[in-house]
Amino acid sequence: MTDELKPCPFCGNPFEITNAESGNRKEYFIVKHEYDNCPLLMDGENGEVWLDKSRLVEMLNTRPIEDALRAELAANLNKYNAEVDQFNDGYDAGEKGGLDPFADQPDYDPDYDSWRNGYQAGSYDRLTAELAALKERTRWIPVGEWLPGDGESVIVLNFIKGAYDIFESQPNAVKVGVNDVKYTIPAYLSNGVWLLESGVPANGIIISWMPLPQPPEDSHD
Ligand SMILES: [Zn+2]
Repeated sequence: MTDELKPCPFCGNPFEITNAESGNRKEYFIVKHEYDNCPLLMDGENGEVWLDKSRLVEMLNTRPIEDALRAELAANLNKYNAEVDQFNDGYDAGEKGGLDPFADQPDYDPDYDSWRNGYQAGSYDRLTAELAALKERTRWIPVGEWLPGDGESVIVLNFIKGAYDIFESQPNAVKVGVNDVKYTIPAYLSNGVWLLESGVPANGIIISWMPLPQPPEDSHD
């Protein structure tokens, strides 16, 4: 039995056990607890005398409702901490991009599985950056914005005013739209002049261009 006393359940202030002896009486104990904001008044002068100190401590410390609430709080804190750990594990995995969120997830309790939430949060910035880079690589770049390097083969979007049948002379031209005379075709810049792959100057107005797709990486799979 410890002599550690819990604080008062009403006001939170301590109880004080005083050891008192007088004359030939046996040793006895009184409790002092006098606080203006507490309904529990124990001043040791109203006959509250205890002979067994350990019983007194036990009585003051017996708090079934408080103990049950503390146990419930501890259980909830454990659950919360487990969820935070799951979330953080998922966040780290998502940030690294190393795990499949549906196949490789650690075996967590599905009742409060926050691993996938963490994975999604951790994946977001990485995937957003990858998507932006992908869009940048595959967008049509207006020629007023910037131009490819001299001699670099690209695909251009060409606009020819008036009737002009490019498609007979350039079979690799791809018409854009139904009625427009816009088409896409491989071309490159040579000393500021757009040339088709055949080496002849591109007629019309080059509106925008796009880098050619990269070939797949050599793989030995
Ligand atoms: Zn009190």
